[in-house]
Formats: sequence, C-alpha cells, structure tokens
Amino acid sequence: MDDTYQVIIAGAGFAGVAAAKKLGRQGVRVLLIDSNNYHQFQPLLYQVATSQIGVSAIARPLRSVFRRLKTVRVVTAQVEAVDVAAKSVTTSDGDTFRGESLVLALGAVPNFFNTPGAEEHAYPLYSVTDATKLGTGLTRLLDEADKNPEADVDVVVVGGGPTGVETAGAMAENVKYVVGKYFSKDLASRCRVHLVDMVPTVLAAFSEKSQKYATAHLTKVGVQLHMGVGVTDVRPDGVTLADGSRIPAQIVVWAGGLKAGAVVANSGLPLGRGGRVDVLPDLTAPNASGVYVLGDAANITDSKGTKLPQLGSVAQQAGKWAAGNILADLTGGTRRPFDYVDKGYMAMVGRGAAVAEIGRQRIQLQGPFAFVSWLLVHLALLSGTQQKVRALFSWLNGYLLHSPAQVVVSGPVDRKEPKP
Ligand SMILES: Cc1cc2nc3c(=O)[nH]c(=O)nc-3n(C[C@H](O)[C@H](O)[C@H](O)COP(=O)(O)OP(=O)(O)OC[C@H]3O[C@@H](n4cnc5c(N)ncnc54)[C@H](O)[C@@H]3O)c2cc1C
Repeated sequence: MDDTYQVIIAGAGFAGVAAAKKLGRQGVRVLLIDSNNYHQFQPLLYQVATSQIGVSAIARPLRSVFRRLKTVRVVTAQVEAVDVAAKSVTTSDGDTFRGESLVLALGAVPNFFNTPGAEEHAYPLYSVTDATKLGTGLTRLLDEADKNPEADVDVVVVGGGPTGVETAGAMAENVKYVVGKYFSKDLASRCRVHLVDMVPTVLAAFSEKSQKYATAHLTKVGVQLHMGVGVTDVRPDGVTLADGSRIPAQIVVWAGGLKAGAVVANSGLPLGRGGRVDVLPDLTAPNASGVYVLGDAANITDSKGTKLPQLGSVAQQAGKWAAGNILADLTGGTRRPFDYVDKGYMAMVGRGAAVAEIGRQRIQLQGPFAFVSWLLVHLALLSGTQQKVRALFSWLNGYLLHSPAQVVVSGPVDRKEPKP
C-alpha cells in the first residue's frame, strides 16, 4: 500500500471505525491508529466485569474489521501528541503520521472530579482492561470471603447513570442467583451492593417513570441506594459521603463521569465542557480546517441546535458524517452540518428488566419488552458475527440457566495492591 495517507484517524472506537469504513469503501487511503489492536464495545463492559460475557464477545480485532478494505491501514500504537496545524500525530514509538485530514476520535477517560483517593482506589469501567481488572477483583474477593466465614463483601458503585445502574444491578443479581450456586451457601447473605449518586435519582437523563421503575427493580434485587449525596473520598476500605457517613467496601467502582484525555487536552484546540472540543456544526474543530473531532472527545451540537450526549450512536453517526464531509473536502464539495438521527436511550436494569425511551418522541418501554429490545439492539450493534454468536450464547446461558460465562480470573490484578 502507498504509505502516504489522505486521512489519519486517531482512535478506533465507534467514531473512528465508522469513519474509516466509509472512507475505505470509497478507496480513500486511511491510517487508523489505536493503542489496542481491537475495537471494544463499551456498552457491554459491565457484563464482562460481572462475568456475564467473555472479552471475546466484545472485542474484535481491527485487522479483521478492515480485512476487505485494502486502503485502510491499521497501526497499533499509542498516540502521544497531535499537531493540528500539520494534521499529524506522533506515537510513543516516535513515528509521525501526516494526512490531508486528521480525525481525532480518542474517546474519553474517567473523570474523578478531584475526589481524593478515587483515582488510586476505585475501579473505572471504560476499557476491556478496566472490565477485566474489575471482574478479577470481584472474583478474587468472593474467593477470599468464601474461605473466611467472618468476611463481608461490600461493593460501592459511584454514579447512578446507565453504567452505574447496569453494573450495580448485574452485581446484585449475581449475588442473588450465582453466588449461592457457586460459593458457600451463606456467602450471599454477607454480600452487599451500594449505589451512590449526588443527584436525587438514578438515571437522571431518563423520564420519571423510567427512574421509578429502575429504582424499584434495583431495590428489589437488593441494591442499597444512597441518592442525593456525593462521595467525598475513596479509601482502600470504603468511601466517605458528603453527609459524613461512611460505607465500608473492598471494591469501589467509578462510573461517575468522563472527560477527554490528555492528547486532546494538550492539542491546543479550544476546550469546552468535560475538557472536550466544542466542534463546529460540520464536526471540524474551530480554526483548524481539516481537523475533525468526534465522539466522546467532542461536544457536538446537531443541525437543529441540540447538544448531543456522549453516546455510541452519536459517535457512530458522527464518524459516518465526518467521512462524508472529508470526501467533500477531497473532491471539492461542500461540507454539511451534522444531522443526528435520535434513536433514544436504553438502560439494562437487570434480568428481564430494562428501560427504553425510543426515538425523538421518547416512546417509553419498561420491563421485559425493554429488556428484549435492549438485547436485540446491542446484538445488532456488536461488531462481528462471531462476537454476536458468543454474546447470544452467553445471554441464553446466563439469563435462562443463571450460569456465569466467566468464572476464571485472568491474573493477579488488584488496583488496591501497592504499586511497585
Ligand atoms: C461502560 C460504558 C457503557 C456504555 N453504554 C452505552 C450504551 O448502552 N449506549 C450508548 O449509546 N453508549 C454507551 N456508552 C457510551 C459509548 O460507549 C461512547 O459514547 C462511545 O464509545 C464513544 O465512542 P468514541 O469513538 O468517541 O470513543 P471510544 O469508543 O472510547 O473509542 C476511543 C478509542 O480511542 C483509543 N485511544 C484512546 N486514547 C488513545 C491514544 N492516546 N492512542 C491511541 N488510541 C487511543 C481507545 O483505545 C479506543 O479504541 C457507554 C460507555 C461506557 C464507558
């Protein structure tokens, strides 16, 4: 392949992959760089962390994704810096790659909001590595408590948005349906799952009906809710809340927010909310023609003036749209302002229980119908036939037979162990 590139895409998440596919199908020479050699499906990370599905269901090798698109070259490398004027990126290997257009689709990193101890002691949930570490930590904790009849297992999930709700719900259901089956009988009675958020309700972005449904289901499966009170510090043995109370915990999961990562922060581009780039309606960065910023790294406003949330569907559509605008750049056409098709929101609350607000009209579904819709939508969105089959098999196994897909830990990883 020619080693000059028309487009450099940094980040192979929803946005980067969508852009590369569309450009590759038109024969555009693309270099796609990611620190991982796989595309990860973030919406199912919590299922990896809670042993519901295996990593191979949610991670697909990038070279497999692009095997038929001969003009797309995949490079596995950490992007260290970008030069927006030169439209180039430099990797930790010391290589610099330059294109006629540059796409920054590097996603986000957890935002600990300067909460003391959070970065050191809490488990974030934003990557396959995070999910594996958390899953390993949870399984090891259960193994230890299984040997010691005096030991309690307390998990605190910080953040009552979809990620926190899905994680807490899945953990509580594991206690209810799985722990008693695979560990000593009394262990389940020694396990507790707490969900904490400074806002007064779970799923704040959803309708009141969905919030009530999720609250009722979480309570039913045993999640202890602490709403309307923030976490002021995270320690190795638990968290302190803003009202001065403490929750003991061996594991704290951070689902409390996101911000753009260091590469975007140091790019020199003007930053807005969450350290993200406030992009123009055509998805380019201000004063940086030919530089597109997409997905979780950007604050995107659609053509109707609506500020869009950090969602997979927004990132994916923005990726395709940006590719269209890059094709216009390459052929002397005109860029068009991003027109987002709003498909709504969904969150899994537990087995047979989900909430969905579908389309711009926000048609509301709760319960089994929303649960089945959630499974079907996520199955459709998963990249790769093998991945879809693995996920479907794990769901049938888990939801019908109450059997975890993964009971094997992957390594001695525990963020709370002292770092060498
Ligand atoms: C736990 C969780 C659950 C979610 N659930 C849902 C859901 O149910 N529905 C929904 O619509 N959205 C959901 N989201 C949000 C959705 O996943 C994100 O909005 C979407 O992934 C953003 O896409 P992106 O392409 O901007 O970034 P990402 O998908 O994060 O991709 C960024 C890519 O950049 C790479 N990268 C980052 N930094 C570097 C670097 N320095 N060098 C090289 N590569 C780098 C990463 O490896 C990654 O592959 C969820 C997010 C999380 C974390």
